[in-house]
Amino acid sequence: MSDVRNVIIIGSGPAGYTAAVYAARAELKPLVFEGSITAGGALMNTTDVENFPGFPDGIMGPDLMDNLRKQAERFGAELVPEDVTSVDLAKPVKEVTAGGETFLAHTVILATGSGYRELGVPGEKELSGRGTSWCATCDGFFFRDQDIAVIGGGDTAMEEALFLTRFAKSVTVVHRRDELRASRIMAERAFANEKISFVWDTEVVEVLGEDRVSGLKVRNNKTGEESTLDVTGVFVAIGHDPRVDLFRGQVDLDEEGYVQVDSPSTRTNLEGVFAAGDVVDHSYRQAITAAGTGCSAALDAERFLAERG
Ligand code: FAD
Repeated sequence: MSDVRNVIIIGSGPAGYTAAVYAARAELKPLVFEGSITAGGALMNTTDVENFPGFPDGIMGPDLMDNLRKQAERFGAELVPEDVTSVDLAKPVKEVTAGGETFLAHTVILATGSGYRELGVPGEKELSGRGTSWCATCDGFFFRDQDIAVIGGGDTAMEEALFLTRFAKSVTVVHRRDELRASRIMAERAFANEKISFVWDTEVVEVLGEDRVSGLKVRNNKTGEESTLDVTGVFVAIGHDPRVDLFRGQVDLDEEGYVQVDSPSTRTNLEGVFAAGDVVDHSYRQAITAAGTGCSAALDAERFLAERG
C-alpha cells in the first residue's frame, strides 16, 4: 500500500482535470485515475466544441482535453491511465484500487461522468459528430435549416426537440410507443410547436449516410413496415446513465441514480468524499459546468484538509 495522499481524483473529463489543476496548484499533489480507454472523457468523442469559453474559433474536443491534461500535469498532478476497480470510501483514510494496487487518500473526488444511452443501431456510432448527436445544446447550432429527427419520448427528448426548433427547418420526434412519457407541460409545448411532428410506435433500424447522416431507417413496431425519414441530423435522447457502479452502496445517490451532493458544495454524505461533473448533474451536462464543479470539488477538498489540520 502507498503513503496516504491528500487527494485522489477518479476521472479525467473536464471535471476531473479541472479538479486536478486546482488541487495541484494548491500543492496537494493529486493522483488522478484517468480511466483506460475512456481517458479524457466524453469530449474525446466529439469534433468542434464552440461553447467552451476562451476559444473564440472553437476547439476540437480531443484538443481541449489534451490542453486540460497538460495544464494539470504542469502543476504536478500525477496522471495514471488506469480504471479504478474498487473503492472503500467510508473510513477516514480512503482506499482506491487500480491496476491491482491499492492507494490511500484523505480525500477522494468522484468525477466519473455519465454515459449517454445509445440506440445500438448500425450507423449511430460511425456518424457520431457527423450528424448523430446526444446533445442539442452542444450541437443544435450546426443544424441550421436542416430536417432533424429526435429519438425518445421523455422530458429530455421534448426539451431537445423544442430547443432544436430554433435552428431546424423541421423536427420529427420518433418514439417507440403511442404516447409520450414526458410530463404533460412538456408534451403540450411540443404538440403546440408547428415545427415538431411525431412518428409513433416506431423504432430506429439504422442511421444512414457515408460521411454524414443522410437519412434514418425506421420500422413501425405494430405493422413491421420500414421506411426512411429524410433527415440530416439525428439527436438521440433516450437517457443517461451516471457511472456510479464503483461507489454504489457507499455514497448516497438521488432518485435518478446520480451522486447526491450537499449543493452548492460538492460534499457527498461521506466525510472527505466530493463529487463533480456529470456524475452529479442531470440538469446541465456541459463541459463548462463540469469544469466549474471540478474546481469547487478541489476547493472543498482543500478546505476539508485544512480544517482537519
Ligand atoms: P466525462 O467527460 O464523461 O469524464 C468522465 C471520466 O471518468 C472519463 O475520463 C473516464 O475515463 C473516467 N472514468 C469513468 N469510470 C472510471 C473508473 N472506474 N476509473 C477511472 N476513471 C473512470 N459539452 C459542451 O459543453 N460542449 C459541447 O460541444 C459538447 N459536446 C459533446 C459531444 C458529445 C458527443 C458528448 C458525448 C458530450 C458533449 N458535451 C459537450 C458534454 C460534455 O462532454 C460533458 O458534459 C462533460 O464531458 C462532462 O464532464 P465530466 O468530467 O463530468 O465527465
